[in-house]
This record gives sequence, C-alpha cells and structure tokens, in this order.
Amino acid sequence: MEKMSLRDVEVADKTVLVRVDFNVPLKGGEVADETRIRASLPTIRDLVERGARTILCSHLGRPKGKPDPEKSLRPAAGRLSDLIGREVRFASDCVGEEAEEAARSLANGDLLLLENLRFHAEEEANDDGFSRRLASLADLYVNDAFGSAHRAHASTEGVTKHLSPCVAGFLMEKELEYLGSALADPRRPFVAILGGAKISGKIDVMESLLEKVDALLVGGAMMFTFLRAEGERTGRSLVEEDRVETARRVAARARERGVDLRMPVDCRVSASTDGTDPGRIVSVTAIPDEAIGVDIGPGTLESYRRLIESAGTVVWNGPMGIFEVTAFSEGTFGVAGALADATMGAKTVTIVGGGDSAAAVVQAGLADKVSHVSTGGGASLEFLEGKVLPGVAALTDAGGGR
Ligand code: ADP
Ligand code: MG
Repeated sequence: MEKMSLRDVEVADKTVLVRVDFNVPLKGGEVADETRIRASLPTIRDLVERGARTILCSHLGRPKGKPDPEKSLRPAAGRLSDLIGREVRFASDCVGEEAEEAARSLANGDLLLLENLRFHAEEEANDDGFSRRLASLADLYVNDAFGSAHRAHASTEGVTKHLSPCVAGFLMEKELEYLGSALADPRRPFVAILGGAKISGKIDVMESLLEKVDALLVGGAMMFTFLRAEGERTGRSLVEEDRVETARRVAARARERGVDLRMPVDCRVSASTDGTDPGRIVSVTAIPDEAIGVDIGPGTLESYRRLIESAGTVVWNGPMGIFEVTAFSEGTFGVAGALADATMGAKTVTIVGGGDSAAAVVQAGLADKVSHVSTGGGASLEFLEGKVLPGVAALTDAGGGR
C-alpha cells in the first residue's frame, strides 16, 4: 500500500508532530554517535524551510516508564542545533503544560524537541489518552522513525488516530521505497544473502524470502546448522540442534521452488572465537572435531561474489562470520565489497538490513557505495519477513488527493 509522504502535504503555518529516531548512544551527557540525528535532517530541514512549526519526539533507551536523567533527550537537542544551525527548544516532558505552552509559542520555522517518550509507560502501552495528549500538540503527523515502525506504540500508532493526515518523512519514505520495491517488484535475478548468529532468529525472514528470490546464499553461524542437516561434521561450531530439522525443511522448500540455495564450500576454523588463533581455511567436508567455524572461506566468497555481480537485486542480512574479530572479518567485508562493486553503474540494487550487517558495511567504509543501508534493525527484518509494520500501516494512504 502506497503511503502519503511529506512531499504531498502543505506544512507552512502548521504545527507538525514528527516521530524521529533519536535513540542515540550517550556518553558523559553527550551524544556519542550522531548518525541517527543526521539521518533525520532532510525531513527536519524541509519542514523548517517550508515554514512549519516542528515538534520532534523520540524514545531513547529503555527507561521503564519513568523519568531517568541518564536517558534524557536534552543532549540530542543541542547536537541537532549544532547540525542544523538554529535554535532547538526543549520541553522537559513530552506531554502536559510545559509541552503545550512550548508548542503554542512556536513561530513558523521553529523547532522543539520533546523529552523521551518512554518516560511515560503509556507510550509503549499505546495508551489512547496519552496518544490524544501528544496529538493535541499538533495539526498533522510525520513518521520518520522507520526503526520503531514495527512497534505499535502511542507515538507510532496510537497518535495517528487523532491527527490527519499522517505521512511518511523522507527517511521512512526511502526505507519503504527500497525495501518495498525489492520485495514487491525486484529486478532479477533476485539474490538474498543470509548470515548472522542463529537460524532461529532468521527463520521467518528465510521462509519469506524463499518465496521471492532466485538464489539464497547462506553464511554466518547458521551455515553449520545447514551443514549438520546435510550430515557433515561441524566440530565445535555453533549449531542449533533443535533447528536441524528446520534447515532440512528450508532446503526442501528451496528445491520445490527451484531456488538456488547455496551453502559455503569452505570456511575458516579456529581454536577459539576471540581471535587469539587466526585459524585456517578448510573444506566444509573436513571440519576438524575440535575446531570452530568462524567465517566463510575464500572459495565461497569467490562464488558468492560472482552471483552478487550478476544479480539485479541483492538483499543482505547477517554477517558471514565473527566480523568483530579482524582475523574473521574477511568473508563479511568481502561480501560488502562485492555489493559495492555490483552497485557501481546502477546495475544492481543492493540493500543491507539488520543492525550488525549495517554496522559491518559502515565499518568497511562502504555505506554510501551500496544502494541502501536500512536504519531499522528489527523493523527491516520484520519488513523482509513480509509483516505489516503497524507504524507504516497507520499512515494515510496515498492517492486520496491532498
Ligand atoms: P544482524 O544484526 O545484521 O541481523 P545477527 O544479529 O543475526 O545480524 O548476527 C550478527 C552476529 O553473528 C555477529 O555478532 C557475528 O559475530 C555473529 N556470527 C557470524 N558468524 C558467526 C559464527 N560463525 N559463529 C558465531 N557467531 C557468528
Ligand atoms: Mg544483530
């Protein structure tokens, strides 16, 4: 379903409530990483330039429904002000008199940031009274927090019942555009790469993608559960014994659908996962009993690289190995490089989803060399699972005119 976007609405002279994702790490009362604040700048700048009175709201961490000075959004107001080069006012509670007064006193082009929504338990409970109080501050609603859209909370879902229209901000729009069109109408061949720690956390993504892709390339720890399902010995590698049957089922479904399901042919094994032993490359049919599989091998990387380069669309979720350890990062960074190469010349649409995978691409310095790195860890996974995200579903449908 197409949703209305910020570009479809008049905002001049209007008070706009914007749900952003300012869930940033803090250190010593300062914003330690401003990536998420930067990500919402296009939306905020647009509102300022078009003369809206902008009220920003977000959660930060898990303050358990009551005020916690350690999780205050106040430092984010200062950082946003530096980035955007204008004053950002701050209300020390997201609802109530102070917020209402601050909202009323905004002039066109002004910015106000509200304190952490989760200082109220009603936020996560999606309480209707709380949603109404939030909504009462503004005339219309913009959601630019894709990373929170998989939760039906007051600021992502409840509030939309009391404001109209409710539209997607530019960051949200980009997420829906890339993830949405990849799933609905992918340029083919459509290749998915899945890795990470566990099959159990990825089984829904895998089963959903199996119905859509032409090829599915497996890496990460989950490869060992698949190898076990094929009867291989996997040493001390991470295997989910209770998922071996699941792996068999996935393989059977891939055969049924004619999906090219690829397993690694080689892997790096080590005596431990901490990097003290850089390990060595072995065939997946010869994993020593005392060894732990920590990365895909170069033979696997080479064949995956070829499949990536001939793809029309690539969706990647889950690192190929324990990339946090330099000695075990070659497979993950190699796949990131292959995505970047495939993206050049606009030949292949490449999308990275998932918190650790996104971090790996950033670490490899390739974040702007792929088509899209999703900012929403859990939300992008649920999207890839084919689930309807409540925060997206709640937005006003496009096509109804202005
Ligand atoms: P994402 O956040 O992108 O969805 P996951 O959370 O599923 O990814 O998985 C990331 C984790 O998987 C990383 O911390 C990485 O160390 C781990 N991992 C990858 N390969 C292995 C392996 N062979 N053994 C143990 N852990 C692994
Ligand atoms: Mg993760």
